[in-house]
Amino acid sequence: MNRGKLIVFAAPSGAGKTTIVHHLLGIPELNLEFSISAASREKRGNEVDGKDYYFLAPKAFRQKIKNNEFLEWEEVYPENYYGTLQTEVDRICDAGKNVIFDIDVVGALRIKRKFPEETLTVFVEPPSINELIKRLKGRDTESDEKIDMRVAKAAVEMATAPQFDVRIMNDDLDKAKAEAERIVAAFVGIDKA
Ligand code: 5GP
Repeated sequence: MNRGKLIVFAAPSGAGKTTIVHHLLGIPELNLEFSISAASREKRGNEVDGKDYYFLAPKAFRQKIKNNEFLEWEEVYPENYYGTLQTEVDRICDAGKNVIFDIDVVGALRIKRKFPEETLTVFVEPPSINELIKRLKGRDTESDEKIDMRVAKAAVEMATAPQFDVRIMNDDLDKAKAEAERIVAAFVGIDKA
């Protein structure tokens, strides 16, 4: 793979990384396009197939793993597979754009190991576990059991933060957005000083 830069955002779910990624996608000069992951979980609320994720049945997902179609993949929760298709990254790079990812910590570090020069890994930190629980409950899209699962995972994910190129503390969303903008602009070679 050549050309575009890979900017990988990871964080415990509820830390606000998706909001920050959407903010960055709205800045044309960063020349970013979102890497749509494949996922085998059920579609939530107003999610759209082919926009939020390429939704696949677990069996179809496992077949693509066998065919070596993923740049990285992870069984993030039992039977819930998520992964980045090689064709997706090629599609974006071929269009002359930089790729922005919103994926889990393991996948993020895997992409960095594969393409160390082209990749910037960014970890978005929630102010605290309690704040994270509050945000997840506020979403109101999932059962308590699923929320508990995400919270348990969050503690493990927070421990990987030192392995990332940069960390952004999201205790103030506007500040976090501005910081992300500066960091990504510098990495893709735009001077926003
Ligand atoms: P959610 O179900 O909330 O959309 O996502 C659950 C977790 O899977 C999040 O941490 C999300 O970032 C992660 N995820 C989404 N896409 C990918 C992917 O392509 N690869 C990996 N490794 N994780 C992903």
